[in-house]
Amino acid sequence: MRRAIVIGGGMAGMLAAVAVSHAVDDVVIIERDELPDGPRPRKGLPQARHIHILMAGGADAIEDLLPGSIDRWLAEGAHRHRLTSDMVALSPEGWYRRWRPTHYLVTSSRDLLDHVVRSQTLKNHRIQVLPGRQVTGLLGSSSRVSGIALSHITGTGADEEMTADLVIDASGRASRAATWLADLGITEIPEHTLDTGLTYATRIYRAPSGAESIPVINVMADPRSPGPGQAAALAPIEDKQWIVSLGGTRGGEPTDNPEDFTRFALDLRHPLIGQIISRAHPLTDVAITRSTHNRRRYFEKTGTWPEGFIALGDAIATFNPVYGQGMSVAAQGAQALRRELNRTGDVRSVGLSRRVQRAAAGPVDAAWALATAQDIHYTDAHGQVPTWQDRIVSAFTSRLSRTATGSFFMATAMTDVTTMRKGATRLARPSVLGAALLGPLRPPLTEPPLTERERIVLQLKPDNERQNV
Ligand SMILES: Cc1cc2nc3c(=O)[nH]c(=O)nc-3n(C[C@H](O)[C@H](O)[C@H](O)COP(=O)(O)OP(=O)(O)OC[C@H]3O[C@@H](n4cnc5c(N)ncnc54)[C@H](O)[C@@H]3O)c2cc1C
Repeated sequence: MRRAIVIGGGMAGMLAAVAVSHAVDDVVIIERDELPDGPRPRKGLPQARHIHILMAGGADAIEDLLPGSIDRWLAEGAHRHRLTSDMVALSPEGWYRRWRPTHYLVTSSRDLLDHVVRSQTLKNHRIQVLPGRQVTGLLGSSSRVSGIALSHITGTGADEEMTADLVIDASGRASRAATWLADLGITEIPEHTLDTGLTYATRIYRAPSGAESIPVINVMADPRSPGPGQAAALAPIEDKQWIVSLGGTRGGEPTDNPEDFTRFALDLRHPLIGQIISRAHPLTDVAITRSTHNRRRYFEKTGTWPEGFIALGDAIATFNPVYGQGMSVAAQGAQALRRELNRTGDVRSVGLSRRVQRAAAGPVDAAWALATAQDIHYTDAHGQVPTWQDRIVSAFTSRLSRTATGSFFMATAMTDVTTMRKGATRLARPSVLGAALLGPLRPPLTEPPLTERERIVLQLKPDNERQNV
């Protein structure tokens, strides 16, 4: 009888349970929360109150692990946006054009994304959840983890131990894996952090009639301009609603005061989102979070790594959320687990954990490079100091992005990477370097690329008309 234990029943935990399920008789997910049976909020997922964009690379991975998920999201009200045709984005280098579609992304509430993944996962008869319990440590030694210690959240049940052939830590950004491993004698796990001090502030709005399915709108910060970075994103979600998140780095944070919300959006590099929400009806107060730093634990680089233990998802790394990568990294990590299990066929095979940890580091590295290449430019960022290599990569990324404002070829190459469908090496191909040398083939756009219909449903005037008023 083979058993796997998964710590945490969030996105990474559910997908890891699916990935391991064919290799064991029993998968037990230990979760602190009572998990809702619908798309409803829960305490252990506070970030769900903020905008969550699922990139194509993550959606593909989830569909691969749990076929039918995309159709279920859409049936329950999620939106599938074609990229770049269904996206209006002001990058640091200017407005991106809306080229013909090559990729996609999914928007809905995070609670809906999780609900579908959870209900699809729990159809698998080998997988069960033990809610209301929290893992407090690992059993075993530095050479093999053999189980977990757990306690009941309510304090009514006695502390327990549970053995397993494989323990997967998917307990998210608050993971205590480094401490638990230290208790087994595995110390000195390299760790990097980069914290821009970003605060997120989010409100849900009722979408005005006719504007339920608008494109995702994104006014990004420019990390290279002096002072804090300020940004906003608006996405349609289920139930004819929009979710709007504002972000401000240290010194330029949004507040939780509803009075300030629209003003913040109007004062960005372009007022588009502020103009749109000033005419929309808010349905919620402002939710705030400051849990937004980049933190990378290099588990795959430790000298000793125990058999029988793997960390996935945010337990390995967290990223500045404005880049929208965390769920995709979690999903691709679960795919890496399944690939390695398919190769060996045995959950107890020697070296499996180390191989999975290395394979899962691939998507983590890609997301980390993308997020930190931008974030190192914030003068008030704490942590990693930019090296000259970082500065070269960053200048190159900026050149690619400027080219993408006026080149379909470059826009596609960049979207290949930002949607996490391809690794960053895609951008080192000679054809991409050539296009970057050539620069944008079309002039910069002077106003947001909205269609006439979108301007009407959003009650917007062209920029030049507004200036003349
Ligand atoms: C503000 C914000 C916005 C974001 N926006 C995006 C976005 O647009 N796109 C994107 O892809 N990603 C986004 N992310 C990142 C995304 O939320 C995470 O990457 C994703 O949730 C990671 O999944 P996970 O399963 O690793 O962790 P989580 O989803 O956090 O799940 C961890 C689970 O473990 C449980 N748990 C914790 N400790 C224990 C324990 N000791 N015992 C038992 N259970 C435990 C928790 O209750 C929870 O259910 C955003 C993050 C933030 C903070």
